Amino acid sequence: MNNEQDISYILNELGEENDQYFRAVTPPIVQTSNFSFKTVADLRKAFANEYSTWLYSRGLNPTVKILSQKLAALDSAEDCLVLNSGAAAIFAAVLANVKSGDHIVSVAGVYTWARKMFEEILPRFGVTHTYIDGSAIENWQKAIQPNTRLFYLESPNSWTYELQDLAAVAALAKQHQIVSVIDNSYCTPLYQQPIQMGIDISIQSATKYIGGHSDVVAGVLSSNKVMIERIFNSEYLNIGSGIQPFNAWLLIRGLRTLPMRLAHITKTTQRVIDYLKTESLVEKVIFPFEPNFPQLSLAKKQMKGACGLCTIVLKPLPIQSIETFCNALQHIRMAVSWGGHESLVVPRCAGFAEAEYDEQNAEHRMLRLYVGLEDPDYLIADLQQAFKKAAAPVH
Ligand SMILES: *Cc1c(COP(=O)(O)O)cnc(C)c1O
Repeated sequence: MNNEQDISYILNELGEENDQYFRAVTPPIVQTSNFSFKTVADLRKAFANEYSTWLYSRGLNPTVKILSQKLAALDSAEDCLVLNSGAAAIFAAVLANVKSGDHIVSVAGVYTWARKMFEEILPRFGVTHTYIDGSAIENWQKAIQPNTRLFYLESPNSWTYELQDLAAVAALAKQHQIVSVIDNSYCTPLYQQPIQMGIDISIQSATKYIGGHSDVVAGVLSSNKVMIERIFNSEYLNIGSGIQPFNAWLLIRGLRTLPMRLAHITKTTQRVIDYLKTESLVEKVIFPFEPNFPQLSLAKKQMKGACGLCTIVLKPLPIQSIETFCNALQHIRMAVSWGGHESLVVPRCAGFAEAEYDEQNAEHRMLRLYVGLEDPDYLIADLQQAFKKAAAPVH
């Protein structure tokens, strides 16, 4: 895949059969729970192989199928499953590949709900984990135990953007018959192709760039056909969290503009970062393609781009100044999530009590900024006026 012409085909045509629905340019929302059969023989066939038949919309649904063909092709994968959230995709992918007594090696600092699954749910079923600094391949090697069945990666992560060498970790996993799973939400398949680098399962939160309009929560899990069919027939049907037709239709609509949105956000993010580096309250900006990023060469090797999310580390200052800054923003909204049309900010200090704030702890002075689709000068002006208020002496 990988060339723009293929992407145009995938986003505009692949999986769509306009002859089936009045030659409408936009696919229909097939809002049905079940599908009927003309003969017992046909019904029997469907029961025997739900993975390839319309039977019940907890399994396959035509609108969802159009979407999943596009998403699998974007991932250079044989097939994919689309679920009701990124968290559900993570849960299904991991649950499908471990059993009681197994061990997982995961990068430290993973997404909150992956961490909660490792720490609070899986131990109840006898599945253990080891967190490592995933930046050095030796750390993966050293953490392998005789019962290690799964490597969990997130590259880059969505606060500090640490990377793992995907090809190297995938090769090590293969050598030890370990299943490798990555959270690829930050890059999307347009900016990083984990499956082409040998990773077994690539997950992304489609809530972010795939949807792109902050109006749907969804997740994608891509892999080879054998893996996808196995997960479909057990975890997918059993958890029952497949995406609903209307949400699938919204994601198809989001996909049409994905390349343009990413291209625009990529340019705007760079403009905003260049401005941020001139602000006197800013100590540094963390972003995978910044010259001072410790893993810049690895980022350039395995990522085609980076955009949207960056983290501002403010210089040591009282917590009140951080709060003044965030409260003063007029257009950049304070909210979780990212990948939509609207720019967002989340201060790290919202995650703990005010009394715990330690001015000397750089993590406490972090603000995560998501740059959306607005004009860069509009965003810069908003940041500028908020910085001015934050710099005023506290009374
Ligand atoms: C948002 C997010 C998820 C979870 O996705 P949901 O769609 O919110 O369930 C997983 N990983 C990363 C990196 C995310 O940003």
